[in-house]
Amino acid sequence: MATRAERWLLPAILLGAAGGIAAGAIIGPPMTAVGFLATLFLNALKMTIVPLVFAAIVSSVCSLGDVRHLGRLGGAALAYYTLTTGIAVGIGLVAVNLLTPGAGVNIDTPASMAMPEAASVADILLNIVPDNVLRAAVELSLIQVIFFALLFGAALTTIGERGHTLVAFFDATNQTMMRIVEWIMWFAPLGIFALIAARIGEAGGGAAVITELTAVGRYVLTVLIGLFAHGLVLVGLLVLFAQRGLGYLQSMLRALVTAFGTASSSATLPLTLECATEAGVRRKTAQFVLPLGATVNMDGTALYEAVAVMFIAQAYGIDLSATEQAIVFVTATLAAVGAAGIPQAGLVTMLIVLEAVGLPAEGIGLLLAVDWLLDRFRTTVNVWGDSVGAAVLDRLDRTR
Ligand code: ASP
Repeated sequence: MATRAERWLLPAILLGAAGGIAAGAIIGPPMTAVGFLATLFLNALKMTIVPLVFAAIVSSVCSLGDVRHLGRLGGAALAYYTLTTGIAVGIGLVAVNLLTPGAGVNIDTPASMAMPEAASVADILLNIVPDNVLRAAVELSLIQVIFFALLFGAALTTIGERGHTLVAFFDATNQTMMRIVEWIMWFAPLGIFALIAARIGEAGGGAAVITELTAVGRYVLTVLIGLFAHGLVLVGLLVLFAQRGLGYLQSMLRALVTAFGTASSSATLPLTLECATEAGVRRKTAQFVLPLGATVNMDGTALYEAVAVMFIAQAYGIDLSATEQAIVFVTATLAAVGAAGIPQAGLVTMLIVLEAVGLPAEGIGLLLAVDWLLDRFRTTVNVWGDSVGAAVLDRLDRTR
């Protein structure tokens, strides 16, 4: 049965998104005036993230009981994430080889282009352990907050009775934060309207966006076809391993539209948690695997990075061999793990993939203009991947 939020909020959010697209496309640049509403909504969501994630992980680790159970679930989560990210990259590679969107494209890039700074694989690993927990929290470095929360929770389970008050404290904090998220959700229709309308307005309105899109139309189409195909594969996994169908997709729609609106898995995380637990995923599983998924499991980003790198190679007229494509496969998977759940993070970690196969970083100049839009689609698939993961892992954990 549909919950109250599903009955009222979902249509309102969908209407907000559709209205945002229409207003941004038709009215154009003046719609940037509603940008402050978008920022308000984003800030409200971000405000909840650190206390919510910290309390959610600590209380989930404590309710999972012994460390072996935690290890099993963590292991299953990592296996699931690696498998689905691998499938996503595979789909991207097949699509880009079949559709060859880069063939015949002119790759001239403006000399003055501002390049994002490249990260390395070592940076990705180094980034997991914070040197200062408070700074990690202040800078919203989610993976570091999660790392510390996992350690904290695990240690808390070992101190016996003396820890009970603290466990109760974090459990209550978690529930309080979820209540705040429920309240913020009622602002989502307006927030999402503003996010989308202001961004399309900033891009110059509908006609300008269409011109940008058609300049690299086949590339955009290849990414979208790949993302859609992967979304369907995830539905298949959902039916197969979680015995759930499209009803789950409907329950998650509020989070998915928010992902599209914000282009940030991290900012969407509070809603992903809310929708998944409402849809019947047990809290202890959702609270553990969703924050982890929001930071390391990015199917859409991985797929997009593989397509983008191959597109650049094609545009330069460089034929990547099977071995080089295997390198793209591995590095795109790693680069997606390393991407933070924030807007356009994938663009930065893509430089790792380009470097690995010796392609010039300037190649991304061609893609910059449409990245803000593709980012929204890939973030939606990222959040869908996390959501399916939560349902599947919860089911597997129950049957063990
Ligand atoms: N914006 C994406 C996310 O938050 C990451 C990316 O691909 O840029 O999931």
